[in-house]
Amino acid sequence: MWLTAVYYDGRQARPHPVTLCVEGDKLLLQGRDIVRREELVSLKIPPPLGSTPRLILFADGGRCEIADRQGFAEMLQDLGNCAVAGMENSWWYALAALLLTLSLLATVYLFGLPYAARVMADRIPVYLLERMDNQFFASLDQTLLLPSALTTQRRQVIQDGLQRLALPAGGGRPARIEFRASPSLGANAFALPGGSVLVLDDLVNLASNDEEILAVLAHEMGHIREKHALRHMLQASVVGLATAWYIGDVNSLLAVAPTVLLETRYSRDFERQADAFAAELLRGNGIPLSRLADILQKLEAAHQTVATEKPVKSTEAMDYLSSHPNTEERIKRLRGL
Ligand SMILES: [Zn+2]
Repeated sequence: MWLTAVYYDGRQARPHPVTLCVEGDKLLLQGRDIVRREELVSLKIPPPLGSTPRLILFADGGRCEIADRQGFAEMLQDLGNCAVAGMENSWWYALAALLLTLSLLATVYLFGLPYAARVMADRIPVYLLERMDNQFFASLDQTLLLPSALTTQRRQVIQDGLQRLALPAGGGRPARIEFRASPSLGANAFALPGGSVLVLDDLVNLASNDEEILAVLAHEMGHIREKHALRHMLQASVVGLATAWYIGDVNSLLAVAPTVLLETRYSRDFERQADAFAAELLRGNGIPLSRLADILQKLEAAHQTVATEKPVKSTEAMDYLSSHPNTEERIKRLRGL
């Protein structure tokens, strides 16, 4: 069976009218001043695409265009086992290459990124961290945060309490504490990437005593010591910047970054580490561990009230608990310590 086709040698744009046929495991191509006899396995045959001519690609860059799609499909069907095996092989190679690429990406994402973020987090100079938090506060003050309604004395008492705490080895003292109010964030405290802690009025008002506030701060200090927020942000920005670069929109990514940060859900591991740090710190300062469990329970109750009052606005009503998942589990563990 012979098919007519147009051959391009891959070096010049000149088309050569040729005829094609299959001989055993070889493709025979003949034109006025060309003869090629190629192993079928060395050829690439892309799948049909719309109504465009079918293609045969040669390893050296030459190619054939076959307008007779029907005839070509029949010729492919008549091919010997050898050619079919060749095509199957190329499918397997393509699949294997795809799987390899995916698993490589997954490995980079699961292990490479966290490792790189950790290394980077330890190398960011203090003045940059400070500037980072300044920018976060500037941006959040325009969106989610209001000035704190707590008196200066009340804030000072909490600051002093924090200063008096003796820290476990490795530090973790916040760069600074900022008080704000936020109806949408509710009772909450956040460790920012630069090492500052944001304390919201509702949390202070919800606590039955200052030891409960210190217990929450101790937990946030655990996040600070391990640089969880910073590491998380570095990882997210690599993924985010790659995505933004891909879709060509970096500005909108930067605009939402501070808000996204507060919506961050830490992993169980991060929470466990922060709780373990808090436990060590509280113990070292003679504060019962039950203070942290107590305030967590109140936060959970407050969260549920907010959730039932404003079921539609549940994303707006994110509170301490949304960035601290598995609260029940944590309370149980703390009570058992
Ligand atoms: Zn936490």
